[in-house]
Amino acid sequence: MRTKHPEEIFCSFCGRGSAEVATMVAGHHGSYICNYCIHSANEILSGAHDEHGHKHSATSLSSFKLFKPSDIKKALDEYVIGQDYAKRLLSVAVYNHYKRVQQGHGMGNEWDDIEIEKSNILLVGPTGTGKTLLASTLAKILDVPFAVADATTLTESGYVGDDVETILQSLLQACDFDVERAERGIVYIDEIDKIARKSDSASITRDVSGEGVQQGLLKLLEGTIAGVPPKGGRKHPEQPLVQVNTKNILFICGGAFDGLEKVIARRIKNSTIGFTAEEGEHVEEDTNLFLQAEPEDLQKFGFIPELIGRLPVLAPMHPLSDEAMLDILTTPRNALTKQYKKLFKMEGTELSFDSDALLEVVEFAKARKTGARGLRSVMESIMLPIMFQLPDMKNVRSCTITKDVVKKSGDVVVEYGTPATPLELGDDGQNIKKVAM
Ligand code: ADP
Repeated sequence: MRTKHPEEIFCSFCGRGSAEVATMVAGHHGSYICNYCIHSANEILSGAHDEHGHKHSATSLSSFKLFKPSDIKKALDEYVIGQDYAKRLLSVAVYNHYKRVQQGHGMGNEWDDIEIEKSNILLVGPTGTGKTLLASTLAKILDVPFAVADATTLTESGYVGDDVETILQSLLQACDFDVERAERGIVYIDEIDKIARKSDSASITRDVSGEGVQQGLLKLLEGTIAGVPPKGGRKHPEQPLVQVNTKNILFICGGAFDGLEKVIARRIKNSTIGFTAEEGEHVEEDTNLFLQAEPEDLQKFGFIPELIGRLPVLAPMHPLSDEAMLDILTTPRNALTKQYKKLFKMEGTELSFDSDALLEVVEFAKARKTGARGLRSVMESIMLPIMFQLPDMKNVRSCTITKDVVKKSGDVVVEYGTPATPLELGDDGQNIKKVAM
């Protein structure tokens, strides 16, 4: 007999309620089995798992390459500038995470009883400092599916359960609905600080929606079997759901946590004898304070203790210095200037940037107060005119972006000649011409 979604029944094997599963099959004397347990039982019978539910070594989990923390850090260095401490924390956390994913396979001894707890990560720091970039680069290095979710979109909807699962939908889409791959992917949840309760005091002042989303995320972060609608859209009672186990998915949450420094500073101030008010003021501005964040600070900030417990690794991200911004323009594998140079090279033209031009780009980007994110938009607006004209221009050997071009008070310096023959600018004065943009 097949029963669908009666409110009050639970799977006799795993205890999940009917709301959490797609299908319940009824047995004798009020016993039920859910579709997930049917699937697991089927795998045991077909030999894919042993009787404890562990996968055999022939499966893809064991073929999953485990990178050492130093390898992970080195690979991150190629794409992400600075943030050394956060990179180290992440490298170790990720290494331990994937060791944990593989734990118990074939060990078969007393260590099997020791469950390594999941260590999801919280990245705390200003916008545009590389939080998303770190998470996505990790996924690239490890070759696992990756999805980004925005915690604020979860707040907007009143229907928490559905929305939280849409996070997994993006992850499934990232790997063409290969559930097994999705189940060891990485999810970055941005703007997690925006779902903090407005106050941690009396319940009348609570921001209920924020807390509701926190509760919804909690289950996902600690590990649950979530029913995900297969191709977009919301849950529909008749739709068979894709069951995704989030136990081995690494969740990296990030946010700017404006005001957290003050919470930390206040705590430190209260516990430090002889700490003067002036010093307190100074400390509030110090982002290194994030290094001293304690769970109680996050609770004061508006997070429920259970969620804090699920994010045991707190990695502080630093605001980017001018030098770091300059480096971002030029050194990472995918550095913006390298991308433009490649685009120009495809036209046979050498592109170069004067160093004071790049300094000026950094100044403009800083004014936007969006960290390194501002670099791209500043560069786009500088490069647009020449990128529009270049394909119509003949025999352009090289283009130079000067400080005046960045300030929009001068023109790109263009040198004519046989394209793709690099020449030092200024070597041949008569070839240099200014093109009005
Ligand atoms: P957020 O911290 O807000 O998540 P992102 O990681 O999305 O910031 O950064 C936005 C863009 O800025 C990235 O795509 C990248 O080009 C650049 N960027 C930010 N921080 C760094 C960094 N530390 N190293 C290299 N590029 C960075």
